[in-house]
Amino acid sequence: MYFVIMDLEWNNSFNKLTQKFMNEIIEIGAVKLDEELNEVSIFSELIRPVISKKLRSRIKNLTNISNEEVRTGGTFEEVIKEFEEWVGDDAVVMSWGDTDLRTLLTNYKWFLKKNTVTFINKYADLQKYCQCFINMENVQQAGLSYAAECLEIDPEKYPHHRALDDSILSAECFKKVYNKEKFKEFIRICDRDFYGRLLFHPYVIKNKNDPLIDKNQFNCFCEICGGKVETIKKWKFMNQSFRGIFYCANCDREFKVSLRFKKFYDYIDIKRSYSEVVHAKEEPETTEEQ
Ligand SMILES: [Zn+2]
Repeated sequence: MYFVIMDLEWNNSFNKLTQKFMNEIIEIGAVKLDEELNEVSIFSELIRPVISKKLRSRIKNLTNISNEEVRTGGTFEEVIKEFEEWVGDDAVVMSWGDTDLRTLLTNYKWFLKKNTVTFINKYADLQKYCQCFINMENVQQAGLSYAAECLEIDPEKYPHHRALDDSILSAECFKKVYNKEKFKEFIRICDRDFYGRLLFHPYVIKNKNDPLIDKNQFNCFCEICGGKVETIKKWKFMNQSFRGIFYCANCDREFKVSLRFKKFYDYIDIKRSYSEVVHAKEEPETTEEQ
């Protein structure tokens, strides 16, 4: 078995046929490691863009790839065929975050009319794995340079933001934190479920009658005495959550409840919060003139 760490560069191209923007891959870089983490081979190829032949200046500045240079590349079909053969069928393919994989899938769909990235049988999100070994207190997601610094690898040694440089830097991070047993937990088999999960966009449920919602969640009790409450204002959806106002006679207390249901691929996240309603007469007196 091999480990393939890939990185892609793409150009955000306007597709006249779909009237939508699409990330068109312009470069593939990858490193192949054996099970002892020795570098076996590298891959680096430019892809000639066809949806938009001109690179955006942001991409030119970031990657230092020029329009002239990228035109020397092969077509997506040609380069991907070469890449598939290079990867072989006994590899765990990895990328830093799953955006590269999504982009690859978009390009497969558009250019090859395929609904899966056929050469990837096993995939691991290297960012997710490496984050287990990094102090994540100050960040939500660790960018590659940040992760490299945390792992005491000098990102300045790989300065160009080119696909191959980034894949080598990712591979260096992987080598630093590789643990056979722990890493196994991050390897995904690329089946239907895998793609369903990859393409799923979490969303907030807006309709109270949506069958996905557990209706019991709308039953309210007083959070202090646990007793029954009267409804002052019925549930209404606003600002991403259902809101209602209730009154507990036992505690003589009015409170707002906010309830948010967010659908993820295989579960629904429920967030509930209470806040007391303070009426004007109960507010502490304030002086009007200063
Ligand atoms: Zn109460």
